[in-house]
Amino acid sequence: MQQYHAVKKQHPTALLLFRLGDFYELFYDDAVIASKLLQITLTSRNKEKGQQVPMCGVPYHAADNYIARLVRGGHRVAICEQMEQPGPGKKIVRREVIRVLTPGTATASTLVQEKENNFLAAIARSSGPASGSRVKAQRMAASAGASHSQGSLELGGSVAAGPSASIGLAYVDLSTGEFRATEFSGEKAEFRLRDELGLLRPREVLLARPRTLFPTAAPPETNGLGALETRLDDWVFEANHASRLLEEQFRVAVLDGFGLVGHPLATAAAGAIVHYLRETSAIGAGKESTTGSGPALRPSGAGLEHLDKIGYYEQQEAMALDAVTVRNLELVEPSGGDDASATLLSALDETATGMGARLLRRWIVRPEISLQEIEARLDAVADLKSRTVAREELFATLGNILDLERLTSRVTLAIATPRDLLALKSSLEKIPVLRKLILGDSAARGSDSTPGANTDESMRAPSPGAASPAPRLENLSHELDELRDVHALIARAIDDDPPALASDPGVIRRGFHAELDELRDITKQGRQIIAAMEDRERKRTGIASLKIRYNQVFGYYIEVTKPNAALVPADYERKQTLVNAERFTFGELKEHERKILTAEDRVLEIERGLYAEIRESIAHEASRLRRTAAAVAQLDVLVNFARLAASRHYARPEFTESAMGVASAPVAGSGTWASAAQLPLDEIASARSAAVGGADNRGRGVFMIASGRHPVIERLLEQRGERFVPNDLYLDDESQCLLIITGPNMGGKSTYLRQVALISVMAQIGSFVPAAQARLPLVDRVFTRIGASDNLARGRSTFLVEMSEVAGILNMATPASLVLLDEVGRGTSTFDGLSIAWAVVEALHAGARPRTLFATHYHELTELEQLLPGVRNVHVSVQEAGSEIVFLRRVEPGSADKSYGIEVARLAGLPQAVIARAREILRHHEQSEEKLTEELSPGAAPRAPEQTSFAALDASVLEALRSASLDELTPLEALNLLAALQRQLK
Ligand code: ADP
Ligand code: MG
Repeated sequence: MQQYHAVKKQHPTALLLFRLGDFYELFYDDAVIASKLLQITLTSRNKEKGQQVPMCGVPYHAADNYIARLVRGGHRVAICEQMEQPGPGKKIVRREVIRVLTPGTATASTLVQEKENNFLAAIARSSGPASGSRVKAQRMAASAGASHSQGSLELGGSVAAGPSASIGLAYVDLSTGEFRATEFSGEKAEFRLRDELGLLRPREVLLARPRTLFPTAAPPETNGLGALETRLDDWVFEANHASRLLEEQFRVAVLDGFGLVGHPLATAAAGAIVHYLRETSAIGAGKESTTGSGPALRPSGAGLEHLDKIGYYEQQEAMALDAVTVRNLELVEPSGGDDASATLLSALDETATGMGARLLRRWIVRPEISLQEIEARLDAVADLKSRTVAREELFATLGNILDLERLTSRVTLAIATPRDLLALKSSLEKIPVLRKLILGDSAARGSDSTPGANTDESMRAPSPGAASPAPRLENLSHELDELRDVHALIARAIDDDPPALASDPGVIRRGFHAELDELRDITKQGRQIIAAMEDRERKRTGIASLKIRYNQVFGYYIEVTKPNAALVPADYERKQTLVNAERFTFGELKEHERKILTAEDRVLEIERGLYAEIRESIAHEASRLRRTAAAVAQLDVLVNFARLAASRHYARPEFTESAMGVASAPVAGSGTWASAAQLPLDEIASARSAAVGGADNRGRGVFMIASGRHPVIERLLEQRGERFVPNDLYLDDESQCLLIITGPNMGGKSTYLRQVALISVMAQIGSFVPAAQARLPLVDRVFTRIGASDNLARGRSTFLVEMSEVAGILNMATPASLVLLDEVGRGTSTFDGLSIAWAVVEALHAGARPRTLFATHYHELTELEQLLPGVRNVHVSVQEAGSEIVFLRRVEPGSADKSYGIEVARLAGLPQAVIARAREILRHHEQSEEKLTEELSPGAAPRAPEQTSFAALDASVLEALRSASLDELTPLEALNLLAALQRQLK
């Protein structure tokens, strides 16, 4: 146990797997954690000064699987091996940690997800204040800010330390070689760092060790990420050290080429990553345990040569989606315990390769804001959509391409097996096919236009877009490198049916290496000679059962059964005696044995050498392979978009002018709703009337969706055989920039909000969108906030969280942003909540005035339509059918009927007295609400008396109907009653 404690002290944060005989054992807390995670029995051992020591163990031959589960579970795992054979006379076997596996440095396919990146991130901070003083600075900033209107909402404790705060972030995926870095500065640096981490979802984060005396709680930056947090000494994050390390790693003299110049913190973070990777891979380098091969998950000291470049990027180069929004919109992960298929990613991911799936995920959380890039993708999608046959063939061909990105990394990490190389080869064979399909049969197209039997004009005219592929596709076809040299090398060198491991014989193809072939012949002949020798010796000795055999320990031997022992000739030397047989050898056999064994050794030696050389020379082409892999990934995603567009009737979005800049084409007719005349008329009728009154509309930032659908819910409903009801949307900068959406619970408000944001995101990643037509502005940020009680399932939401999230919007939204507020204010008492909701709308209106959709059950908010220009009411409609309420799911102009809840209660059979009392209370509330409106905005409060009097009339009519005895009425009396009732209602 002393030895255990010594080893554990060197790896205090790792689960220590301690080799004892045929088991890896874990002790103490490690054992408790592992037994839970692995579902293995926790036992104990009571040797430690009478104290029970918890322990559990896994058999060494099955360890890979267990270790994989621990690492995937987010733990660091240290493997401690026996370094010598236990034997008599040795009291304690020497043991050493030969490997440390961590979630962020894992590369083995058992450890990483096929369709996700496995990121290791590092965060470097500028002045490096002790975390205690940072918290103090935050508090001070928060209390100082309390005096101005926005600061008072900054309750999240996540406010930046000050304008000088600067943070560097770097991340790497060892399994793909992606290595990037960025920097955040200014007062929003902390916000933006958290957003970025929320998108990346790293498996492990490197941070400087806090300088405080006492360990602090989890820092805000990694809170809730589920990443393993690894603390390093702060000199590791020192910029000079980092530059030197990076220059060495990338084998360059200066880092200029990577865009890192002038970004010392990004450099520091990247340096920390390289430092850490080297440190972990150096553990146990060159050490081989003597007891079995040990886990094969990652070779110790595996090369990091493939990390040969880094890219600097700016977060602003993409539509900003903060972590809360990504979660609320369920872009890549379901929120709460929902169905995993209910995300935008899963709804859109029908990619054919893991590379494509990973790229799609990256695109979804980082939509473009460059119109040029978006249009280039959309052009490509449109082109592929129009070429049905080529598109489907592309899809099928992509399906036969294996993960080039990860295969390349396995080659450069020197862990590629012969079968990996064959997979690489067969994947490369598909590249020319892709190219041909992309470029299309240009030759055939040419011949289309040659005069033929068909003289029909329309047939001869080249259809638009068919002349040549979209420029993006053409570019991709240039990027696709079939790497003939690599392909040829593998084809020449690697056997068609190689062993699974590169260390076994039979990897190299015959004909590749002359000496190797010769030696193989020798071993083969050697075996024939031995077979002949066996025959001859049987005849010579007259022992018919004589055998010549081979085993690892004794080599070749002649075996003779005991009864025949007397017949053994004098030149046989005894090697071994068994119960019923004797084993011998003799001169000639010894001679042959030596020849064969040396030849076999030599064969293995040559094969291993050749294989290493081959792998090396493929590794030299890694950057070409990666470029090709990136092109395949993009092609896969574009083909995927085209297939979805075709099968799901998605439409190509058009971009209008927005606060971010001018779109490709100005919107015709100044962009009033009338300009949408070419839209399907009946479908937009309701939205059109919603826009009536927008005469002063300048048409900037027109945001218009005709018959929009929610891409995820539409599919879920389809699976149940139901139909999604499409809805329209109209927003602009002036006449209608903020919609208040009311309507009963379950009416479809939240769905409507989300579908708008999802359509915007889809458009800006270059996909067609679920709508009949969509004209969208470029959106710089999307914010989605959900009232606390809607979010309770997450078990972490409080009103405080809700408010700090709203504060984020007020701080960060710009006129080009899209803001979705769903039941904000719900987390507190009605009056508080209403007041806050009201103030938030006013602040948005008075401030950046982003386009906003606000779904609310605070009916009072509909008053804002009268008070603030640009605010409009819409509601989700319902219909009463007998005693049933039918949700029509249609979004219509105006606010919802506010007595609706009481009507539902009446239909449900609540006693008349209760209904009447409820109406009375409602009236009371309405009066105080009028007073509130009056106070907030003197003179502007409109009166809405029809509502209440309608309810009263309604009741008397119903009462009259209920009490009429139809059996006694004549037809004329019945008619008169009807007329009287109608009069009352009017
Ligand atoms: P609310 O936010 O008004 O309470 P939701 O948006 O959560 O309502 O919608 C409730 C349910 O109604 C959704 O889960 C969905 O199944 C269904 N739904 C919403 N909108 C539509 C629509 N346009 N067409 C069909 N079903 C819809
Ligand atoms: Mg809702």
